[in-house]
Amino acid sequence: MNYKDGFMGSVGNTPLIRLKGISEETGCEIFGKAEFLNPSGSVKDRAAKAIVLAAEASGDLGPGGTVVEGTAGNTGIGLAHVCNARGYRCIIVIPETQSPEKLDLLRALGAEVRPVPAVPYKDPNNFQKIAGRLANEMDNTIWANQFDNLANREIHLQTTGPEIWRDTEGTIDAFVSASGTGGTIAGTSTFLKSKNPKVLTVLADPTGTATWHYVKHGEVKVVGGGSISEGIGSSRITANLAGASIDDAEMIPDQECVDMVYRLLYEEGLFLGSSSGINVAAAVRVATELGPNHTIVTILCDSGSRYQSRLFNPNWLREKGLETPATRSLNI
Ligand code: PMP
Repeated sequence: MNYKDGFMGSVGNTPLIRLKGISEETGCEIFGKAEFLNPSGSVKDRAAKAIVLAAEASGDLGPGGTVVEGTAGNTGIGLAHVCNARGYRCIIVIPETQSPEKLDLLRALGAEVRPVPAVPYKDPNNFQKIAGRLANEMDNTIWANQFDNLANREIHLQTTGPEIWRDTEGTIDAFVSASGTGGTIAGTSTFLKSKNPKVLTVLADPTGTATWHYVKHGEVKVVGGGSISEGIGSSRITANLAGASIDDAEMIPDQECVDMVYRLLYEEGLFLGSSSGINVAAAVRVATELGPNHTIVTILCDSGSRYQSRLFNPNWLREKGLETPATRSLNI
């Protein structure tokens, strides 16, 4: 029989999808690793699973325990699923400014959502610090702490990297990835370079991050204004990102990301979120710089369905000064 063992057994082993239009245009083979096909719909299923399994193995999390995290994003969604699958309570602490859809989704998944006032990271009442304190005060409870918990990058070293190496039969020339916690790019790059130090590893950043300047010039410095992208872009070097061997970085402006997201939808039939748009746009830049006959892999992080009211809402984009093929053709 061929089957996956429950939710946990269904995480990972995602296919590489050849992106036909941009491969033909650049003369390279450009592949997107379909992380949106993970069981809760994003690349973060890997980290959510790994963090919980590591806590079980260390004895920090026992039967009937609780997992606390500060995020309304894909990690929160992944953890809510993993907690159901393993019999844990899941508490998500988030700033009350988050959209009602995100709160509703987490609640529908069975997580306990605790909205708190939105204050900056340096404030002791920042949502992430509240999550850490809450976990500390409760028995049999862990703080997932995705940014600095190294189980996150370790799972990409153990799974994402080897899967890419296997599926490209070792022919990969460049790996391109965005970074939120840094787990995906750090773990995957470390593995690929251990197999072949010549694999070029490239960070794909939105505008307004500090990591692009860090990779380019070695100094943590925010460059560019804010971005509509979600889940990626960092103003600090997390424990997961620290020490990663990243050769280069591309900064992708929002319009380039939006253009790629719509191109992927209309040309390839792939409905994807903004971080996938940034990844693929950066992969095209890398392909152009390397020239034809190279194999480039990037990550298709999550589905466009998570962004229907924004990235796929031409009015919302218009308010941000961004065009879509539809608004361009109307010429308004
Ligand atoms: N894309 C999306 C949509 C995400 O939510 C995240 C994680 N926040 C990433 C990309 C980046 O993954 P990582 O945390 O492994 O850097």
